[in-house]
Amino acid sequence: EEKKKRAEEEAERERKKAEGGEEEEEEDETLIFMKREGEKKKLEEEEDAKDKVLEGELDGIAEANKKRREERETEIRLKLSTIVEKIDTGDTDITDYDLEKLRKKIEEEKERRLEAIESEKRAQKRLEECEEALVEINKEIEAMVNDTAEKNAEMQDQKEKLSSLEAELKTLTEAAENVEAQVNDLQKEIKQLEDSKAHKLEQEEKGKEDEVSLAAQNTKKKEEIEKVKKAIGKYEKKLGAILQIQKDTEVLKTQSEKLNNNIQDSEASIPFMTSLIANEAVQRKAYYNKIQDMKGKIRVFCRCRPMNSTERSKPPEEAGNCVAFPDKFSLQVGDGTRPGGKRYTFDRTFNPDSSQDEVFEDTQLLVQSALDGYNVCIFAYGQTGSGKTYTMMGDGKSKNGITPRALETLFNTVEEGKGRFEYSVDMWMVELYNDNLRDLLVPEKEASGKKYEIKQVDGRTVVLGAKTVPIHNYDGAMKAIELGESHRKTAKTEMNDASSRSHLVMCFVIHGKDLTTKKETIGKLNLIDLAGSERAGKTKAEGERMKEAQSINLSLSALGAVISALSSGKPYVPYRQNKLTYLMMDSIGGTAKTLMFVMVSPSLYNRDETLNSLTYAQRAKKVTNSSKKSAVTSADALQKMLIKVTEKGKELGIDLEAEEEAEK
Ligand code: ADP
Ligand code: MG
Repeated sequence: EEKKKRAEEEAERERKKAEGGEEEEEEDETLIFMKREGEKKKLEEEEDAKDKVLEGELDGIAEANKKRREERETEIRLKLSTIVEKIDTGDTDITDYDLEKLRKKIEEEKERRLEAIESEKRAQKRLEECEEALVEINKEIEAMVNDTAEKNAEMQDQKEKLSSLEAELKTLTEAAENVEAQVNDLQKEIKQLEDSKAHKLEQEEKGKEDEVSLAAQNTKKKEEIEKVKKAIGKYEKKLGAILQIQKDTEVLKTQSEKLNNNIQDSEASIPFMTSLIANEAVQRKAYYNKIQDMKGKIRVFCRCRPMNSTERSKPPEEAGNCVAFPDKFSLQVGDGTRPGGKRYTFDRTFNPDSSQDEVFEDTQLLVQSALDGYNVCIFAYGQTGSGKTYTMMGDGKSKNGITPRALETLFNTVEEGKGRFEYSVDMWMVELYNDNLRDLLVPEKEASGKKYEIKQVDGRTVVLGAKTVPIHNYDGAMKAIELGESHRKTAKTEMNDASSRSHLVMCFVIHGKDLTTKKETIGKLNLIDLAGSERAGKTKAEGERMKEAQSINLSLSALGAVISALSSGKPYVPYRQNKLTYLMMDSIGGTAKTLMFVMVSPSLYNRDETLNSLTYAQRAKKVTNSSKKSAVTSADALQKMLIKVTEKGKELGIDLEAEEEAEK
C-alpha cells in the first residue's frame, strides 16, 4: 500500500509539473530530486522495521504451533500407554470391541504393506524382463547393422573397382588417340616424301645433270622412307594392342555392371531368404518329431567304416572309394569315377568319420525302453569285415561299441531307480553255427552234449537248455560276455582272418517292479552280431567252410523273408523257417523295438557286397507294427521331405544339421 501511495504522489507531481510549465521550476529540480531521495530512504527503513516485526510474529506463531503439537503428541502417547497398560494388566475397561478394532487396523496396515511390497516386486520383475528384452533387441539391431555395413562395404568396393576401371579406360582411350594422331602425322610425312620423290624423278627425267648427286639423294631418301615405314609398323602393332586393351576393358566394364546388379538382386532377396530359412527350420523340426512318433517299424541305421589298408592296396581300378554321404539320412553308391550314383535313405547314416559316441547317442533311448518292458533288439548285418563287431562290441580297446555302452547305461539307470523300482537282470548267450545252437556260458564239452530247444512262452522267446545267469552290475555283464566270447567257434576265411562265421545272440532279460504301484514288467535287450552276409563264391570256401557259408546264407535269407513279410503286411510271417528267425521272433515285428545296423565298406572292391547289403536293409525299413501300417507311407514321405529341406538349407549355405546338433 505504501508503494502504491508513493506511485500516486509521483504521478500527481508529474501531472502538476506538466501543467505548471517547465521553465519556472527548472532551477528547483535538483532540490526536488534530493528531497525525494531522502523520502524514499526513510520509507524503506520504515518498511524494514515493519518486516522485522512481522517476522517476529510469525516465529512466535510457529513456536506456539510446535508447542501445541508436542503437547498433543505427549497427550496421545499418554493415552496410548494407558491403553497398553490396561491391556497388559488385563483391565476390563478395554472392551473386546476396541481390541477387535485395533486388531483390524493392524491387519489392514499389514495387508497394505504386503500389497505394496508385492507390487514393487512385480514392477522389479517386469523391469528385469524389459531389460532382458532390450538387450536381445539391441543384439539383433547390432547384428543387422553389422550385416548392412558388410553389404555396404562390398558395394563400395565394387563401385571403387568400377571407377578405377573407368579411369583406366579413359587413359587407354587417350593413349590410343595419341598414337592415332602420331600415325596420321607419319603417314602425312610419308606422303610428302613420296611426292617429293616423284618430283625429283620428274626433274631427273627432264635434265640429266647432277645425276650422281641425285642418285645419292635418292638412296638417302629411300632409307628415310624405310625407317618411317618401320616406325609405322611398330605404331600399328601398338595400336592393335591398345585396341585389344580397350575391348578387354569393355568386357570388364559389362562384367562389373552385371556383378553390381547381382549384388543388388541378392541384397533385395535377403529378407525373403531369411524368412524362408526360418520357416523351413520350423517345418523340419515338426517333421522330425512326427517321424519319431511314427516309428513303429524297424529302424535302420547304416554305417560305413573307413577304408582299410588291404582295400587301399588293391589294383587302381578297385582301390577307389564308391560311397558318398549327401546328408544324415542318405548314402550314394557310385562307380568310383563320377560323383553321385544310386541313392539309399535310412533312418540315419553314419559316415566313416563317425565316432562310437555318435553311434551310441542315437541308440541310447532303446535301453530305457527295455527297462520299461519292451523287447528291444539291436542287430548288425553286413559282409565280413564291414564293422559289425566293431559297432556292436568295439575294438577291444578304448572305443567301446554299443553293447558295453548299453549295459553301462542299463545298470546306471537300475542304480538311479533304486528305492522306486526293483530290477533283476538275467542273461543268456548263444551262438548259432551251422544251424546248431550252442550255449556260450558253459565250457565247450558241456555245451556240445546238450539238447537245446527254442520256445515261445507267453509271447517271449526262450532257449531251453541254455544257461541263464543273473547279472548284478556292469562288470558282471562284461565278465559273462568275455567268457562267452572265449567259447565261440571261429574260423579263418579269405575275407577276414579273425571273422566269425556264426551268429552271436546275447540276451538280457530285465524284470522290473514299481515299488509304489507294484506293477511288474519284463523287458528284453537282445544284442545280435550276425555272421558275414557275403556270398559263398567270394570267400573261396570249400568243404566245411562251404557248408558254413551255405548255412549262413540260408539263415540270412530267412531273416530277409521275415522282414519282407512284415514290410508287405502279410498275415503270415515265416518266423519258424529258420532257427535264427525263430530266435528273433519276439524281437522283430509286433510291439518289439528293433534297430538294424547295416554295415558297409567304402571300397570299390566291395561295391557288389555293399549294394546287396543296402538292398537287403532297404526292405527292412518298411517293416511296421501292423496296427500302424498306414503310418509307413506318410512317415516315408516325411523323411523324404526332411531330406529335401536339409538340401535346400545347404543350397542356401545353411547347415541345418549342425544347428540341430548344437541345439541338442
Ligand atoms: P565284422 O564284425 O563285420 O566282420 P569288424 O567289426 O571285425 O567286422 O571290423 C573289421 C575291421 O575293421 C576291424 O579291425 C575293425 O577294428 C575295423 N573297423 C570296423 N569298423 C570301423 C570303424 N568304424 N572305424 C575304425 N575301424 C573299424
Ligand atoms: Mg565280426
